[in-house]
Amino acid sequence: MREILVTGFDMNAKIDQRQEPEVEASRYRALVDLAYDAIVTMDEQHNITLFNRAAENLFGYASAEVIGRPIVTLLPERFRADHPRRVKQFADSYQPNLRRTSAPRMDETNSVYGQHRDGSIIPVEIAVSRINLNGGVEFMAVVRDITDRARLMDLLKKQATTDALTGLPNRREFLEYIEALLGNTDVFSVFILDIDFFKEINDAHGHDAGDEVLRALAKVGASMTSRPCLFARWGGEEFVAALPGADASVAYGIADALRKRYERQDFERVSPLESIPFTVSIGVVTRESDEADVDTLMKRADRALYRAKKYGRNRVEAG
Ligand code: GH3
Ligand code: MG
Ligand code: MG
Repeated sequence: MREILVTGFDMNAKIDQRQEPEVEASRYRALVDLAYDAIVTMDEQHNITLFNRAAENLFGYASAEVIGRPIVTLLPERFRADHPRRVKQFADSYQPNLRRTSAPRMDETNSVYGQHRDGSIIPVEIAVSRINLNGGVEFMAVVRDITDRARLMDLLKKQATTDALTGLPNRREFLEYIEALLGNTDVFSVFILDIDFFKEINDAHGHDAGDEVLRALAKVGASMTSRPCLFARWGGEEFVAALPGADASVAYGIADALRKRYERQDFERVSPLESIPFTVSIGVVTRESDEADVDTLMKRADRALYRAKKYGRNRVEAG
């Protein structure tokens, strides 16, 4: 997710008439060129009329090259066509005299990007104001590069949804996926998988070797079927899979094929560890037509798993 803020400011403050116009202009010029943020203005035809030094750095153009050129030169291709509409919408809703407690946003999707001369896309935050000039109108944009912040946001999002040990989606991500599946009427199945006697593997080979088994298992699970599927770590030595479009018999077939692959050690070891045989037990359930609650669904899967353990492990039970 890219976060962006577009803020409107009242730039129509009266110029102090006591100041010499040249002093005022020099001061303004210095301020604009010293500004840390890129400042770009455009006229009513949406052509660039001012481009400060920070803008030169941000976009990679010299001011002289872009003055008079359309503002969309600075936008990624995919936003260009829609830009005039957005500007109009912003201008129409812009009320500089209204005291605001929250910033007006020019972009409802909450993401704005610039495009560097070299074609690279720059996530930016933009504050826009409308300036009345001798009966005409200009727009001034203060543009801030938020690449670092956007990267951090992406990283945090990835960390929040990924299991660190295996790189699989985590429980939260899985639950979100199931919630989405429950939101429509299509058939889907889920299963929960638990390693048999994993405690003994840890005890016999050490915790690090146990971790390696979890990684190997995760890698196989993540590519177990060519169908759409989400394989996730539920926690500890338990994994879950969501199988959209799979009815009970298809889901059972996928789960049992996976179980057999583990049993036969039919996969590449992630690292050159000694071969540690292991088996898994799986509980698989198919969403019932009136089922709209993820907890109920997962509890049913858990009960099926419990039966698989009870009936001897290394097996799949449908519930
Ligand atoms: P069962 O067949 O009944 O499932 O037996 P089990 O030994 O697998 O079950 P139990 O729940 O008693 O043990 C699970 C073990 O998994 C205990 C815990 O130390 C281990 N475990 C949980 N998370 C991790 C992990 O991230 N790494 C390693 N190496 N072990 C883990
Ligand atoms: Mg367990
Ligand atoms: Mg276990």
